[in-house]
Amino acid sequence: MKIALVGAGAMGSLFGAMLAEAGNDVWLYDVWLEHVQTINLNGLQIEREGKTRTVKVKATDDPQQIGQAELVIIFVKAFRTKSAAETAQAIAGSGGSVMTLQNGMGNADIIAEFIEPERILAGTTSHGATLLGPGSIRHAGSGPTTIGAWAQTEDGLQRAGQLAEFFNQAGIKTESVADVRSLVWNKLLINIGINAITALTGIKNSQILDLENTRQLSRTAVMEAISVAQAENIKVHDDALDRVFKVAEATALNRSSMGQDVDHRRQTEIEAINGFIVREAKRLSLQAPVNFALTALVQTLEYHYK
Ligand code: NAD
Repeated sequence: MKIALVGAGAMGSLFGAMLAEAGNDVWLYDVWLEHVQTINLNGLQIEREGKTRTVKVKATDDPQQIGQAELVIIFVKAFRTKSAAETAQAIAGSGGSVMTLQNGMGNADIIAEFIEPERILAGTTSHGATLLGPGSIRHAGSGPTTIGAWAQTEDGLQRAGQLAEFFNQAGIKTESVADVRSLVWNKLLINIGINAITALTGIKNSQILDLENTRQLSRTAVMEAISVAQAENIKVHDDALDRVFKVAEATALNRSSMGQDVDHRRQTEIEAINGFIVREAKRLSLQAPVNFALTALVQTLEYHYK
């Protein structure tokens, strides 16, 4: 299959490499020229548990070079989704599928401004990756990927099933689900309970559990988000609150992705995580003061980066 990755940082490079190794015609598209040039010159270096392999894959900073692809996977940070979706529209042409496995909420809706919802797939992945430098990533962890059709039409559901099967054949363990909104929301709840708090305080994930007041802050942020989800008829897990703490324990020594962004003075995905809850709560006349405070504090931190 001809596949284009739009945004070939840590995750785009990882998925592009796995799909290229399975024999697909893969293009990595990124606006970062040095990264693109290094991949074309030396291949993509992937470090995994101390060992590094090189994967030959085509990279470009010019989407026209790619032509049309049957599948476009968007892996930019959420605040770049709009421009990535514009590029995806050109590459996917009139029939290609466009997939997002990004974190945060709102990505698929932004993509839907450019692509018919029937061709959009959303989902989550438990793979983890870090960018080490131009042309070089670390595959930090593996886990299942789950996808579903953004439009609950027969065509959309069929596409999701076929692509899940295709990913499995490429060695990427994938399941397709009918209710993808609920899937993405449940991942959002985890990020709401962990990311901003760890980003603001410099702590590792499991340290959320050390102090009753930190646990209470996390729980309240998640409960506000659950109220929004329920008002939107989204089915969240009955034990959604417990799951946040279980993930914090399971990833005990990790800095959350937002924590790492703040550590490196990079723009965070706060607008698509806690900020999304603030906007939705306002629209629905609900209260979300804790998510507002977490959003405003992360924004303040970002604004004053040195
Ligand atoms: P990243 O910063 O490593 O990569 C993003 C890439 O997008 C960069 O290389 C950047 O140059 C490129 N880019 C920016 N604007 C672009 C544009 N308009 N067109 C094309 N490329 C553009 O980010 P990442 O860690 O790979 O994360 C991508 C998404 O996946 C995020 O939503 C993140 O939350 C999610 N995610 C990450 C992980 C992880 O372990 N890193 C795991 C699951 C989900």
